[in-house]
Amino acid sequence: MALVEAVGVRKSFGHTEVLKGIDMEVERGEVVCLLGPSGAGKSTFLRCVNHLETIDAGRIWVDGVPVGFRAAGGKLYELKERDVARQRRDVGMVFQRFNLFPHRTALENVFEGPVQVLGVNRATAVKEARDLLERVGLADKAGAYPAQLSGGQQQRVAIARALAMKPKLMLFDEPTSALDPELVGEVLDVMTGLARDGMTMIVVTHEIGFARSVADRVVFLVDGAVVETGTPADVFNNPQQPRTQQFLAKVL
Ligand code: ADP
Ligand code: MG
Repeated sequence: MALVEAVGVRKSFGHTEVLKGIDMEVERGEVVCLLGPSGAGKSTFLRCVNHLETIDAGRIWVDGVPVGFRAAGGKLYELKERDVARQRRDVGMVFQRFNLFPHRTALENVFEGPVQVLGVNRATAVKEARDLLERVGLADKAGAYPAQLSGGQQQRVAIARALAMKPKLMLFDEPTSALDPELVGEVLDVMTGLARDGMTMIVVTHEIGFARSVADRVVFLVDGAVVETGTPADVFNNPQQPRTQQFLAKVL
């Protein structure tokens, strides 16, 4: 089984169906870039994978474990709270906004999850956090508070914080969209490094250059449905669907 398997995923808010039967597989070590116009349902899909939304129909498995779902007839099947927590721990999520704890240093932001949630002893967690800050190029910022860091640095701390939980899967939701243009590259470089190291990733992004060079596969979502999927070369150089062509004409 793939690390992430989604079959026929549907999700409505009120009377609006936002996901209209999404199928997606992400193999271990694969990087999938999710592209599409605003409102397509990209964030909602990621949130479903990470238990932040409950799906209305279809199924999602993460590493073979089903995420909660609603069966025909409306009965909700959800994992026990403990199992939801365990599954979430295995999935790192990085948002557009960095969401660091403002009154904690960069180092504290990174090691507190492992200490509080995983029960790692403090000395070990601190050492690992230092290694992670080094990996994202911020070894010298361990003692800095978020307000003392640039947006790009904060986002790199957020990535280190997610990695500290040793996730099986990383979800990125437009991680560079809130950044000044000159800070985008440093975050994409960290993500490229992660991909090269074999991390399984689903990345919602408008950074076509990143998708082209790093993604194994691109999935193009419009109005809650997958319109086209393929290698970056296929989708960017030779898009088959008019909706993809229109979108790419705007962003390329
Ligand atoms: P994308 O990330 O592709 O821009 P979203 O997944 O954020 O799209 O949103 C898809 C649609 O679902 C949008 O029309 C949005 O307004 C709607 N939506 C998202 N979250 C909610 C919510 N919690 N309640 C109601 N509508 C929502
Ligand atoms: Mg979004």
